[in-house]
Amino acid sequence: MDYATYFGDQLAAVRQEGRYRVFAEIERQAGAFPKATRHVDGQISDITVWCSNDYLGMGQHPKVLDAMHRVLDECGAGAGGTRNISGTNHHHVLLEAELADLHAKEDALLFTSGYVSNWAALGTLAGMLPNCMVLSDALNHASMIEGIRHSRADRMIFEHNSPEDLDRKLSDLDPDRAKLVAFESVYSMDGDIAPIAEIVEVCEKHNALSYIDEVHAVGLYGPRGGGVAEREGLMDRITVIEGTLGKAYGVMGGYIAASRDLCDFVRTFASGFIFTTALPPAVAAGACASIRHLKDSDAERERQQDRVARVRGALDRMGIPHLPNPSHIIPVMVGDARKCKLISDWLMEHHGIYVQPINYPTVPRGTERLRITPSPVHSDADIDRLLTALSEIWSHCELARREMAA
Ligand code: PLP
Repeated sequence: MDYATYFGDQLAAVRQEGRYRVFAEIERQAGAFPKATRHVDGQISDITVWCSNDYLGMGQHPKVLDAMHRVLDECGAGAGGTRNISGTNHHHVLLEAELADLHAKEDALLFTSGYVSNWAALGTLAGMLPNCMVLSDALNHASMIEGIRHSRADRMIFEHNSPEDLDRKLSDLDPDRAKLVAFESVYSMDGDIAPIAEIVEVCEKHNALSYIDEVHAVGLYGPRGGGVAEREGLMDRITVIEGTLGKAYGVMGGYIAASRDLCDFVRTFASGFIFTTALPPAVAAGACASIRHLKDSDAERERQQDRVARVRGALDRMGIPHLPNPSHIIPVMVGDARKCKLISDWLMEHHGIYVQPINYPTVPRGTERLRITPSPVHSDADIDRLLTALSEIWSHCELARREMAA
């Protein structure tokens, strides 16, 4: 085997398709976010970030930074071990209690990321429930797919956001068989929201466990930031709620919230929980401060919705196509990998505006897009600059515009 040629050829093929990933090297400016410093070949420039998942700017919130500084000084840098062997810090326990309370569940279990929480929890539940059949939404995130695959359980894919198809598939199964239904609330690339009540009803009808990923919803929806399930009064009807501390909460980590026994089961049997160093205590304390703040404060959520509406309204007026959806995510559709990258590069080079192009395999070919995430920290002037630049490049590239809104 000529390994070097193989690696080179594979990379060349990705480049050829125009979907080779280039990471922008940035330094987020705490206190000034969405401003950041961009580094290219030893040169620096100021940019505005428009594609961050720090949806509410909590990554620079004084309460979060204070908690992290304090606990860093008190406890030091790392956790010092796995959760099992000396790594369970008091701040992990406080955070798990905060999360259980957020979702009105008996308990919660912390992981090192949202990816790991999905992979470990789904892998363990589906892998250990005897003869379990997993029903997975067609557009589930890679971390859920990998967890389900890792479990080696039987699986069926149900049509995206279709309780009817889920019902049909569950009806064909032995009623006594263990069943686990995995889906998301806010789908992060299209920004659409699942019909949670209908899905939960189907799960209850067939005695299936329900597992919802609220990664793009926690902190953002519901009176206390408990997600779409909280907003819709459904948290108590869902078996497992999974979330991240790395997006709206602005820090890092993932979790599940569920019954005491289910959390204890995953704690006991999930290798992805036990055989890895626990999160740094300062990270846990920062996440805890962020959750506490967003339980009490609606100001960030309200201002974010205002920013989202303002960007959407202006895109409509300019005829720039974007997927309509009921969430905070604005996918501006380009439909071509090369053009998508070209627009993104042009926005960065000419206007210091950073929107990462989203290409295959993250989204299907032909649906390449710029995924814009307005946040409470984007000013009117930031928005005006973004829209002027987008309009300019749309004209320059002769991209199709939708009929202007009246
Ligand atoms: N679930 C979904 C739906 C996601 O989009 C992501 C990441 O983008 C994750 C889970 C993983 O979360 P984390 O970034 O905390 O690993």
